[in-house]
Amino acid sequence: MRLILLGPPGAGKGTQALRLVEKHGIPQLSTGDMLRAAVAAKTPIGLKAKAVMDAGELVSDEIVNAIVAERIDQKDCARGFVLDGYPRTLAQADAVGRMLKKRKLKLDVVIELTVDEAELVARIAKRAEETKAAGKPVRADDDPAKVPVRLREYYKNTAPLTGYYYAKGLLKTVDGMAGIDDVTKAIEALLKKAGKKAKK
Ligand code: AMP
Repeated sequence: MRLILLGPPGAGKGTQALRLVEKHGIPQLSTGDMLRAAVAAKTPIGLKAKAVMDAGELVSDEIVNAIVAERIDQKDCARGFVLDGYPRTLAQADAVGRMLKKRKLKLDVVIELTVDEAELVARIAKRAEETKAAGKPVRADDDPAKVPVRLREYYKNTAPLTGYYYAKGLLKTVDGMAGIDDVTKAIEALLKKAGKKAKK
């Protein structure tokens, strides 16, 4: 199963991706996590990406496409994967389409999590507070001052992907304002349907 979780920062993509990993035994490919690991390891990519990420802006398509292309060839992706935070631009969506086509693979479904803007801002602030309370370093981009930039990036560059995948017949929408368990249930119901369709 290959799916994309689409939605603004704070929509719950990461939380739901972890549940999908547990239930379906497929890896979560989070470009945000991969980039943060590159920043922590001070790799050439990490050094390039750090300032852009800290500001809440998008890293170049070239960098993220290369990271994903390398990652999907790893063994644990053979049965599928959950893309979380990628693609984020139309160019990335085209790129992942090409990557899959080249490998004779297909996307099963794209699930959009919708959440009101005020709720997103509150969730990101809560995540920062909880991380701080746990004595862990807070993501620079979870600073409330950076959140408007991240939301703008989302609505400008990523939201158009809903139209892109709708036109391909792949888009499904889930109310991300619902409780975490209810969102999981709605996602599982969609996956069941997508699985049946793929078998036909
Ligand atoms: P995330 O953890 O998904 O919120 O990503 C954190 C940050 O990493 C984003 O604000 C971007 O700076 C960068 N990033 C993650 N994924 C992408 C992507 N697909 N395209 C461009 N930048 C990305």
